[in-house]
Amino acid sequence: RTCRRAAFGYGFSLAQNPVWSLDQVLLATGGRLWGDRTEAVFRLVSSDSRTIEAGDLFVALRGEKFDGHRFVAEVVRKGAAGLVLESPPEEPLPVPVVLVADTLQALGDLAHYRRMQMKGLKVLAITGSSGKTTVKEMTAAIMEQGRGRQRVLKTRGNLNNLIGLPLSLLAVDAHHQYAVLEMGMNRFGEIARMAEIAQPDIACITNVQEAHLAGLTDVAGVARAKGELFHGMRPWTTLVVNRDDPRVWRLAGKLPQRRITFGRKPGTTVRATRLRSRGEEGMSFTLTIADVTDYGGHGVSGHRVPQVVASGPAPRTSVRKPGRSPQDAVPCDRLLADGWQGRVHIAALGEHNVQNALAAAALALAAGVSPAEIVAGLEGYRPFAKRLRIQPFVAGLKLIDDSYNANPSSMLAALETVHNLRRNRKVVAILGDMLELGSHGPAAHRFIGEQVARLGFDYLLTVGEFAGETARAARRAGMDAGQVRACLDKKEVGAWLLEATAKGRLKNDDLVLLKASRGMQMETIIEALHHGR
Ligand code: ATP
Ligand code: MG
Repeated sequence: RTCRRAAFGYGFSLAQNPVWSLDQVLLATGGRLWGDRTEAVFRLVSSDSRTIEAGDLFVALRGEKFDGHRFVAEVVRKGAAGLVLESPPEEPLPVPVVLVADTLQALGDLAHYRRMQMKGLKVLAITGSSGKTTVKEMTAAIMEQGRGRQRVLKTRGNLNNLIGLPLSLLAVDAHHQYAVLEMGMNRFGEIARMAEIAQPDIACITNVQEAHLAGLTDVAGVARAKGELFHGMRPWTTLVVNRDDPRVWRLAGKLPQRRITFGRKPGTTVRATRLRSRGEEGMSFTLTIADVTDYGGHGVSGHRVPQVVASGPAPRTSVRKPGRSPQDAVPCDRLLADGWQGRVHIAALGEHNVQNALAAAALALAAGVSPAEIVAGLEGYRPFAKRLRIQPFVAGLKLIDDSYNANPSSMLAALETVHNLRRNRKVVAILGDMLELGSHGPAAHRFIGEQVARLGFDYLLTVGEFAGETARAARRAGMDAGQVRACLDKKEVGAWLLEATAKGRLKNDDLVLLKASRGMQMETIIEALHHGR
């Protein structure tokens, strides 16, 4: 650790991604060498024939639509220095080949091997039905402050499956002090395998909701599948537990690991009270950290978390707001006799994002970050594309783009957020299908239709297989026929919007929410409108 610090201090790079020797690959995967032993070394591990570079080790994965084995000749031409395959190549190759029974397993084994080499690396793992990427980004924003960016490895984008997780982890090098990893799943066993690969030091389950039901029967199945993360944790690690979600609370059950709770209930370690919407600017809340005992970390600036003094007047410290000079430091936090409290402003909309901020704060606290640094990191976080981000739209309307993904809980969260923002403006919900709900699909869409009516949305446009189901439920719950339209396709949605603005039914600043599951690609509606198609 000292050595790594020194490297930072002098601003030179200690080590790039360490190379792989052929022996390490054989050891990590338990594979068999096909052909002659060589002194080959490999730069990076890649499973993508399009982006592979000279010196990389190519792992040929078999997917539903593609088979990496078909690209062997191409990757060798591009300079791949070695191959991990399930079957011997048809003709001799100039590079070493490691044969394994299952290349997906081998990819995970390589990531696990590398993770075990990085003894000083603290791995923070995040799973849950929704909010994983947001919590990952918020946590990374906290850990990346100052010169920390290069010390934090995080899942790229949303690469959270059994391919994306190992690939994210394989990017680790000796600089990294923390890895913040997102774990998603569609079926039992996947999270358990990811925990086995990544060996997390700190694990968080954001929530357990009705999502990805198709492969897991019901919400109890979802809970069991997410619970694999907590159950895969070694005894000396830390669980970050959502106290407001009874299913998560039950998952933590009597597990022996140290735990940090977050939520709005009294008695939680990391708690939010006095939530206030700042309109389109985001949310504020009072953050209380009940226990700032030194968790043994070094914080993002290398300082240990201060011990709390139990007597005398509460000393005031100050937090620097991102983008302001030190002179502007605002006194906004204080050490309480038994903890810490401060007001936090986040740029993300909706109460669910306060919950996500709490999860990130609890993860960072578990990693030893001080409260002041947690606040500064959360305040520096900016929402990213397609996740409840407000942006200018056609004809002066405001678009709330939440087209990234949807399940019933996140749909409801988005509807409520938009409802709370409306003031005296009109609100339109453009909703596509929520996918992967199995037999729960029709009922879930009816529920959402009813909620749109209950919240008094002015218009509802639906699109997709369940468009009729959602629209009919909204009408039954009280919306007029003129307010609700089940569209045949996304083009019809665009046409309706243009007509509504041309006829003055919608005007400046009125709010349009766009949301559906990822597979619906709702953002194409925006692109088409912006390009006049
Ligand atoms: P995925 O499973 O697709 O990777 P995710 O768990 O990473 O999703 P995010 O990408 O962070 O989730 O958020 C997706 C959407 O879920 C957001 O746009 C928001 O509507 C909703 N959402 C985020 N956090 C929460 C939360 N804590 N509770 C309910 N809904 C949430
Ligand atoms: Mg995600």
